[in-house]
Amino acid sequence: MGGYFTDLFTGTKSLLDGMWVTLKEFPRRPVTLNYPHESVKMYPRFRGHIELIGDKDGKPNCIVCSMCQRACPSGCISLAGVKPEGEKKKVLSRYILDFTTCSLCGSCVESCNFNALRFSNEYNLASTRKEDFIMDLLQRLEEQNR
Ligand code: SF4
Ligand code: SF4
Repeated sequence: MGGYFTDLFTGTKSLLDGMWVTLKEFPRRPVTLNYPHESVKMYPRFRGHIELIGDKDGKPNCIVCSMCQRACPSGCISLAGVKPEGEKKKVLSRYILDFTTCSLCGSCVESCNFNALRFSNEYNLASTRKEDFIMDLLQRLEEQNR
């Protein structure tokens, strides 16, 4: 009989403890997000894949010096430029990143002296297709400025 009352007491106490925790947490703001409908705001030092930086008109700051390409230990940057007729400077015509081999080391960003390259805040990159990680960064910059 004593065991019955002990069990009853323990069970009721545990139930009340659980309800108290629920009650305490109920008014608090949730720490989770309604993913994928909501996105986490990334921290400034977060390293997503690299991306091009554009000027106020959306044109890339890149002067096609190829320093980033040379600095990349994994050979994942491929870029090209063209010299329009009558112009002295080259214009970036192609900038492809193979993110499948990028180690996010940052050598490319550090090597750029023209404020043309940075890490993006992109973290939502899940895909089963390898091709999705071959990124056209020039096209991405154009899309961002539309
Ligand atoms: S180092 Fe900078 S300016 Fe030079 S090619 Fe790379 S992104 Fe362009
Ligand atoms: S972060 Fe490193 S590995 Fe990735 S593209 Fe830049 S230099 Fe190459």
